[in-house]
Amino acid sequence: MPPIATLREATLTFGADKKYATFDRTGRLLFYTEPGLAIRRGLDHRMVESTESPSGRSYRDMSEAEKKALIEAVRGGIHLQLSVNGVADRLHRKLEQIEAWTPEQLALDHDKFYSLYRPINILPPDQYRSLVVQVAEGCSYNRCLFCDFYRDRPFHIKSDQELSAHLEGIRAFFGERLIDRSGVFLGDGNALVIPTLRLLTFLQKMKQELPPALFQSGIATFMDTFSLERKSLEELRILRDAGMQAVYVGFETGADSLRELLRKQGTAQEALSAMTTLKQAGYQLAVIILVGAGGREFADRHVNDTLSILAKLPLQRGDLIYLSPFVEPVHTGYTETATSAGLEALPEAKLNEEYEFLRQALQSMHPEAKVTRYSILQHLY
Ligand code: SF4
Repeated sequence: MPPIATLREATLTFGADKKYATFDRTGRLLFYTEPGLAIRRGLDHRMVESTESPSGRSYRDMSEAEKKALIEAVRGGIHLQLSVNGVADRLHRKLEQIEAWTPEQLALDHDKFYSLYRPINILPPDQYRSLVVQVAEGCSYNRCLFCDFYRDRPFHIKSDQELSAHLEGIRAFFGERLIDRSGVFLGDGNALVIPTLRLLTFLQKMKQELPPALFQSGIATFMDTFSLERKSLEELRILRDAGMQAVYVGFETGADSLRELLRKQGTAQEALSAMTTLKQAGYQLAVIILVGAGGREFADRHVNDTLSILAKLPLQRGDLIYLSPFVEPVHTGYTETATSAGLEALPEAKLNEEYEFLRQALQSMHPEAKVTRYSILQHLY
């Protein structure tokens, strides 16, 4: 079968025999697919392979040798096509650009990326195409027992000078790829904890130094519910008027006893009040729930109390409920706590049952909001 090339403004997809590779506007590899297998390449040159099996989808990081072999194989196909007569000029130029990316040159993205960013360990799935700006690093709380995303860094709000250097680095690193990002996501774990005046200055600086198109779909961030009380409704409205649009809130569970065990600050009622305030201030809200948290011991309380709290939340079109299957963290002491509390993890079939039950119940409770899966295992920026 002859190769197929689909050239769009920002990407080229090229391949044959059900094996396809997609490249960005600079010619860097973005995706590779073949039957039963998909590979994505992140901005930091990490490559994650996902495979489908009867027991579900699994993800793994590829080794350096595997990445190199795949890139060379893809380049081989491109090289072959370049030797064929009659390839249109524009496509020919694009293929040459792709072929010029050797595995060694692509690997340089790793160091370039980490000279600019602290690891971006998690993003909401609908924000993968946003431009991440780390106005802060880490989480000001950093003690939830199920969360190890920011244990590698102390909480730090950037100074004006640090933010300027960060934005300059972002412009240099992304180059012409910046226009392919849509929206801006403020890192890291709870950027709304930044004092309002300082955050307003940051938003202004970002708008001065980044392309206006990035801000058309608004600015989003993660936020915990217990620090939100430091912001008044009026402050939240001012930030909303300055461009903040969507807040992703880790609600996790409506069961207070489970929140306590997981070291999630505040009661579920207090979290409901914080989320309601965000809605009153005009934000799009994404509520994240940990499916399977607390194992068998908490299963009923977790589901019932979560549903009874979320029934009181005024969600609308544009809001999201993310159901995130619980993944046991390695470095937080969760395992020891769960063991001493006698918790038994939900087997996969039970976890899927809980997921499906919550999905259906929440979708009929909030028909205008979107209820969907949030797998932290597939994250790649
Ligand atoms: S879940 Fe949120 S609040 Fe808790 S440690 Fe992680 S980032 Fe911080």
